[in-house]
Amino acid sequence: MLNLYNSYTKSLEEVELSQDEIKIYLCGPTVQSSPHIGHGRSSVVFDFLIRYLKYLNHKVLFVRNITDIDDKIISKSSEQGIEFQELANKVMTEFGDVYSSLNCLTPDKEPKATEYIDEIKEYITQILNKDMAYISESGVYFETSNFTDYLKLSGRKLDEVISGTRVELQDDKNAPEDFALWKFAKEGEPYWDSDWGKGRPGWHIECSAMINALLGEEIDFHCGGNDLIFPHHENELAQSKAAKPNKNFVKYWLHNGMINLSGKKMSKSEGNVKILKDYIDEYSGDVMRFYFLRAQYRSPQEFTEDLLIESRTTFKKISEFVEESKSAPIDKNLLNIFEACMGDDLNTPKLIGEIFIQINHSVTLEEEELQNLRSTVRFIFDILGFTFTKVENEKLPKDKLIKFFEEYKIIFETIEQAMGEFISIREKYRLEREYKIADEMRNKLLEIGIKIEDGKKDGWSWNNN
Ligand SMILES: [Zn+2]
Repeated sequence: MLNLYNSYTKSLEEVELSQDEIKIYLCGPTVQSSPHIGHGRSSVVFDFLIRYLKYLNHKVLFVRNITDIDDKIISKSSEQGIEFQELANKVMTEFGDVYSSLNCLTPDKEPKATEYIDEIKEYITQILNKDMAYISESGVYFETSNFTDYLKLSGRKLDEVISGTRVELQDDKNAPEDFALWKFAKEGEPYWDSDWGKGRPGWHIECSAMINALLGEEIDFHCGGNDLIFPHHENELAQSKAAKPNKNFVKYWLHNGMINLSGKKMSKSEGNVKILKDYIDEYSGDVMRFYFLRAQYRSPQEFTEDLLIESRTTFKKISEFVEESKSAPIDKNLLNIFEACMGDDLNTPKLIGEIFIQINHSVTLEEEELQNLRSTVRFIFDILGFTFTKVENEKLPKDKLIKFFEEYKIIFETIEQAMGEFISIREKYRLEREYKIADEMRNKLLEIGIKIEDGKKDGWSWNNN
């Protein structure tokens, strides 16, 4: 049984899943600046969900978009004197790198807004044809007053919305809460041609159009941070219901909580944003993942460096407990606990607590039972996307490793592959009695923290000192 909190009904619901493919859409980043801790949380917590659904033997079709055109990208790139694509591509690469360091599953599709302009225009046309939008001087706007269920997802009141700062003020809108589907280009701004005039899509419309193009008219899960509920998801829902009134756009709306820095929400406007990559480099992807696992995904999560240090220590205990064991689902009791915790709205902190109770009691176990427990703990952490090996591998930033191996004409892909080639090159020198070169290679390797032991198969390890 899987219970998840649906933001639309504002209640915990027993999830009914079809036996066909489960369709999941996660609102991805606007690629305007480097990923921060909050981006990490959203990608990791929904990665737990997707991996868990796969464990339950469901097929999953997972789409996460990239917003590569929007007001902020335009203004930031012009500040930096570069084309908007250049900024978007650079930041997109940074996002790709952190997703992979955090071992998040690659989406089945990762559409960019600029690649779906035709679909977006077509979707706007459908909304216009249903008389749910109008064209004004500055763009095409959604007519919110024509959509009776507007604000049902966020539960906001209209006057709150109007007085709120997130509504864009434009004189030529019929109502302040109406939002742009298509923005006409001002002088010097990037644009695409359309029947209504040169311009670019509004932010919300891309998700409605790309969901429709890639996943169809109805999806199972729509996910994102809870800061997206209003206006982004509210507006997405309005657009999609306007274009397809008889379809149930989203079955379950899922939202993760925000990261807090000393009780304050982390946001660009507060000026307290933390860059994710710095922490991944220092603590490893697994430790960051473990930090996210320690809070239930909907709760706000406190972020301090001390909490990361504590996460590293705690994760190390688990790592040592499972170190020599192979991954296998043997201990039925622990598997039941795993399913009960995950089934309870992905209660991962409870799961960790339960696992530690088992580990602490394991001193009383017979050897075979102990081994079964170790294998099962490892299995659960595998399911949740922990790599264990990577903890060691990520002691050095990848770019340093690439540079090091380049000197030996080795193209670095993984540490195992690169070390395999390195060792065989060195072996050749040893066979040719070129011991001086071989020793030099060993010493250089030691300088970057890798120790090799001669005469041992796979005889290398990270030097902990
Ligand atoms: Zn979206």
